[in-house]
Amino acid sequence: MIRNGRDIENGAVLKAQVCIVGSGPAGATAAWHLWKAGISVLLIEGSRFDGTAYEPSWPDKTLLYEGVADGLFATNEPDFLILPFAGQHSRAWERERILGGTSTHWGGQSRPLDPIDFEARPGFPGWPITRADLDPYYATAAKFCMLHGDDFSAEYWGGVLGDDVPQLADFDACMYQFIGKPYLNFATRTFPDGSTLASSGIDTVLNASLLDIEQDGGRVTGLRVASMDDAKTPGIATEFRIEADAYVLACGAVANAQRLLLSNIGNEHDQVGRYFMCHPLSSGVNISITRPFLTTSQNNLMAGNRANGLQWTDDNGVTVTGRFQLTADALRQYGIGNCWMRSYSAAVYFEMAPNPESRVTLLDTTDKVFGQRQARIDWQLSPLDQVTYETSTHLFKASVQQLGGDIEAPSWETMKAAFVVNGHHLGTTRMSSDPSQGVVDANLKVHSMDNLYVAGSSVFVTAGVSNPTFTIITLSIRLAEHLAGRFAAGY
Ligand SMILES: Cc1cc2nc3c(=O)[nH]c(=O)nc-3n(C[C@H](O)[C@H](O)[C@H](O)COP(=O)(O)OP(=O)(O)OC[C@H]3O[C@@H](n4cnc5c(N)ncnc54)[C@H](O)[C@@H]3O)c2cc1C
Repeated sequence: MIRNGRDIENGAVLKAQVCIVGSGPAGATAAWHLWKAGISVLLIEGSRFDGTAYEPSWPDKTLLYEGVADGLFATNEPDFLILPFAGQHSRAWERERILGGTSTHWGGQSRPLDPIDFEARPGFPGWPITRADLDPYYATAAKFCMLHGDDFSAEYWGGVLGDDVPQLADFDACMYQFIGKPYLNFATRTFPDGSTLASSGIDTVLNASLLDIEQDGGRVTGLRVASMDDAKTPGIATEFRIEADAYVLACGAVANAQRLLLSNIGNEHDQVGRYFMCHPLSSGVNISITRPFLTTSQNNLMAGNRANGLQWTDDNGVTVTGRFQLTADALRQYGIGNCWMRSYSAAVYFEMAPNPESRVTLLDTTDKVFGQRQARIDWQLSPLDQVTYETSTHLFKASVQQLGGDIEAPSWETMKAAFVVNGHHLGTTRMSSDPSQGVVDANLKVHSMDNLYVAGSSVFVTAGVSNPTFTIITLSIRLAEHLAGRFAAGY
């Protein structure tokens, strides 16, 4: 069921066992799994628009997401917070305020984080969980996303496609699956039981913006929520409260931090908003392959093609593609972040190291609708990021030369001038077993609160190089299981 916040009376109190804020992949996944576990779920989405068309999100973004984008954003992506509509899969569309969130136009490219991503190494703190802890949930996530199984190894896919696996010193060939088109948009997609957000038993309220998280004695006691009218410059239509046993914040990495800062929650150790990370991707500047180094069959695998050169796809529309990533041994030996390279189109993309100065804070200016303080986001790369880029491109060149090929990599300065964030917003409420080093614990519960959880890539401790959403979905499945366990134990 989907209803509109405008139809909820002023002063009403809505109740459920769990209230989830934000209907992107993080929130919708947790909502569906909780509903299937027999838990009553209220899913609120701030947008006035239902996610079936793209353009309408734009007015709400300009009204509510204006702020200041600083640091590298100031030169490279000054409109990061509200980037206008520019077509599907464009970098010029970083985050959405719409039913389904940014899944309304993401690419669906999926791969788990690698075991090394969870390990502590200099410059990259460890997660309080391991890859083995997530393995069963990754398997469930693969089914939920209708992927072609949960094996992402080049050896497995070499067999499926009938192609040869390339061998490159210091690099692994790694495969990425793309979710099929019918399952991409969480506002409209079919879930494994045939239900959709609209037909499921999830009580979804569109046009319901979270304004404040009310707390008392380490517990959230309710949410203050408002709907918008449809005037030319909208104002508040109705204001109501939500009371639940548990609450999940799933607003995306910028807004998750902004909401906690606005309600002054979880920031006892000045951790909220810090460690904003991404996978810097250079817009229009790439390494070039000046002499090829793979056989036709190896190239086919890396491009996701069968031996006959035609693209492989399955009945659910899944496709695959390959990348070269640094091996775990190389990462430990050189003390750098990970990096991937493509053999067929020469893109390069790396793991930004966590940096406390790269962060979301609040401005003194306010938005035009609810009068809430706007966000400032400061994107700061660190010297370690330069070492990561330069070492990994150097290693790639040496490995490619061993196979008789060659590449040319632009200088760090050239690349840096062209870096964009490209949709992967990570960190800002990171996971940690030590409350002084992060915002949420291993179960995604805000350290200082008994019943407030955070979902999404804001909880990532390190970025790895895998696209984040498959792990976001995996963590939301795990969160739903954790909450269901708490309810089964009497909460
Ligand atoms: C062009 C592009 C391509 C991408 N391609 C890929 C890809 O191939 N693979 C991949 O893994 N990832 C990709 N991503 C990233 C992916 O889209 C995000 O990781 C994912 O959408 C994050 O999910 P989320 O649910 O955490 O947040 P979102 O999808 O951002 O959803 C957050 C929701 O919260 C709502 N909200 C915010 N504030 C409030 C409030 N105060 N009250 C109520 N609701 C609120 C928003 O309206 C929104 O619906 C891409 C991103 C972009 C921009």
